[in-house]
Amino acid sequence: MQAVAVFPGKPGSIHLADLPEPSVEDIADGRGVLVEVLRVGMDGTDKEISDGEYGDAPAGYDFLVIGHESFGRVLEVGPNVRGLEPGDYVVATVRRPGSSIYDRIGTYDMTTDETYYERGINLLHGYLTERYVDDPEYIVKVPAALKEVGVLLEPTSIAEKGIEQAYEIQRRLKVWKPQRAAVVGAGTLGLLATLILRLRGLEVTTLARTEPPTRNSELAEALGARYVSTRRMPLKEAAEEYGPFDIIFEATGVSLVAFEGLEALGKNGVLVLTGISGGDRTIEIPGDRIMLGFVLGNKVAVGSVNANRTHFERGVQDMALAQAQYPGGLARLLTHPVRGLDNYQEMVRLLTEEKNAVKVFVEVNAHV
Ligand code: BGC
Ligand code: ZN
Repeated sequence: MQAVAVFPGKPGSIHLADLPEPSVEDIADGRGVLVEVLRVGMDGTDKEISDGEYGDAPAGYDFLVIGHESFGRVLEVGPNVRGLEPGDYVVATVRRPGSSIYDRIGTYDMTTDETYYERGINLLHGYLTERYVDDPEYIVKVPAALKEVGVLLEPTSIAEKGIEQAYEIQRRLKVWKPQRAAVVGAGTLGLLATLILRLRGLEVTTLARTEPPTRNSELAEALGARYVSTRRMPLKEAAEEYGPFDIIFEATGVSLVAFEGLEALGKNGVLVLTGISGGDRTIEIPGDRIMLGFVLGNKVAVGSVNANRTHFERGVQDMALAQAQYPGGLARLLTHPVRGLDNYQEMVRLLTEEKNAVKVFVEVNAHV
């Protein structure tokens, strides 16, 4: 069976690999769920992996099959699988539990283990292949009415977790009723965070560098958000104009933005950092001013990575609500389809060069 793989650490090593056919028997206790892959979304992590900057191969392999944003259809289930049957549309979670206490209660996204296992990213093969098998614990059902946009569930789960973290933390305030949010970054994650915050009833300002109109600015506006180019108005000024921001959701991976966020946050506000800053940059910041504002304003900053099953489930609910509230909005994020696994070079090209792309995704099997 075909799969798209890299030799981790070797830039430009993306190639077609051959994987043994998976079978429901590969999973213990009759709990195998065999899934046909229909679509796989690509993001910055895949680009870093293909550039040799990130990722590791599973034990016994010198290659790693990439792809962690899956969407597929169940082909077959083992005798002890309940709640999933052939024909169901599904999305698989990414991380698999390690050994910390957090892993043992299903919150593997919160692991304290040094080594973490993520399908398509670290030490486990991903979904950019024809079929995969896994335990139902890691497979989330998607209603057929969402099949056109189901491939967006994994990035949605990342936004869901970040926003859930913010709300959980803010229970400290007893009466927190957030009204205004800023989302920094208008890529897939920023747009999905914008969407979820709009669905929660917040007034959202979405900021990114590029001056409007762009596809991304139009998408943000279609979700009822205000789009601001940071070239025209930096985050701090936007906070004076459109704030105070009760939540700032960072989705850029640019460390300077994180510190700007600390300063632009309103009193009692929460800053959620989700961007994965791959670099090693040193930056200069007004440390005293930021610290003073943070202390006098009782502010919080939280980092958020990955997502567990509950965030995928919440993602399904919000995607359904989004279809009702902003019909066609989600589908507009799916800008750049790539047909077939063997077109992987085109996929890498789009990820690297196509500045206009919101979501690049591979149509592994056309019959969605
Ligand atoms: C994935 C997450 C993962 C993170 C770090 C992201 O691209 O969506 O599931 O935890 O990379 O590896
Ligand atoms: Zn990702």
